[in-house]
Amino acid sequence: MRMRQVNDRHFQNIIKATQQLLRINSEFHRTMEKTSDKTCDTVEQMPDFSMNMEASRLASFKEWPFDSDCQCTPKKMAAAGFFHCPTDQEPDLAKCFMCFKELDGWEPDDDPWEEHLSHSGQCPFLSKKKKEDDLTMAEFLKLESSRQTNRLMKIVETKIKEFKQQATTVREQLELLA
Ligand SMILES: [Zn+2]
Repeated sequence: MRMRQVNDRHFQNIIKATQQLLRINSEFHRTMEKTSDKTCDTVEQMPDFSMNMEASRLASFKEWPFDSDCQCTPKKMAAAGFFHCPTDQEPDLAKCFMCFKELDGWEPDDDPWEEHLSHSGQCPFLSKKKKEDDLTMAEFLKLESSRQTNRLMKIVETKIKEFKQQATTVREQLELLA
């Protein structure tokens, strides 16, 4: 009886946490719908919930230039938390779904996990040594909560950068008028 109560409470906490995450997600999308096309492009590169799944990340590496006989195969990239988000200038750009660290200029001998570690050692994904299937629901939700925090931080950083660029442009125009 006592055990059952504990389990129920645990279950309620998980539901509450999930509802909070869903609310953050939908608020995020509502905000983004109101923003400019340029921002939407940037945000499209910030994956939604699906990139939590290794299989989804693996599926993103369709055009990946390194396939076999090398360290950075799609399988290893996805297992190390990366998904492929190529641009015209950076066809081998990969991003971590958790800390949103972007890395390009990959060499065949680069080990994705080691590269992730050396460029973003604080990433919460790396400190979880467990495989995806072995994570408990609570661990999974904690990771997702960190991911959403990182995602919002990235968006804020992007907005500040855009604002500073706009401010510089306006200042230059004002100086021309003076
Ligand atoms: Zn990361």
